[in-house]
Amino acid sequence: MISPETLRAELAKLSGEMAIEHPELAHCRFTPHDFRRLFATDLVNHGLPIHIGAALLGHLDVQTTHGYVTVFQEDVIRHYQKHLADRRSARPAREYRSPTGTEWVEFEGHFNKRKVELGNCGRPYATPCEHEHACLRCPMLHIDPTMIQRLDELNTDLLARRELAESRGWLGELEGIDLTLHFLKQKRADAQRSGPLGPTSLGIPSIRT
Ligand code: SF4
Repeated sequence: MISPETLRAELAKLSGEMAIEHPELAHCRFTPHDFRRLFATDLVNHGLPIHIGAALLGHLDVQTTHGYVTVFQEDVIRHYQKHLADRRSARPAREYRSPTGTEWVEFEGHFNKRKVELGNCGRPYATPCEHEHACLRCPMLHIDPTMIQRLDELNTDLLARRELAESRGWLGELEGIDLTLHFLKQKRADAQRSGPLGPTSLGIPSIRT
């Protein structure tokens, strides 16, 4: 049996040797646990279903395995393209005819209706809004990052309404405002993370495929 200390010492030695050939990795220090992660990432990226990976690693919850796996951008694109190709090959060829003018107008019309003040609504194609246009609280809303300033204005307005509700003892109103403030904060953080993705990239596709 190799003790954890010996293993760590060996890894440190190998890391040092590796840095001679690859000076850019001089600051890297590997631990045995890193190899567990590498193993999990490699398995899943080569097509092993994640729940099997979880069983191999002894995880009771598959979410733990999700946290282990590093997903690279090119893997996401490769898997998505493979998924599309598989789906297309399983569908009847007649579904891939060119759309008629009327169909195309209807298609564009749907995406036009998904444009809302704060960004884009991501509800499924050909479905109406089922959330009474309460966009700020709606999980379907993708905020346009250029509208962050507008979110700040809404936040200020909500805080003023909150103050009034508190002073008048409107407890039900207070609860509603707090909930909206909570969603607003979440959406603002999401919009900041998503960076330049705006309504154009989430709205009407620019090319016909
Ligand atoms: S409430 Fe939701 S589903 Fe309705 S328009 Fe707004 S974002 Fe879309």
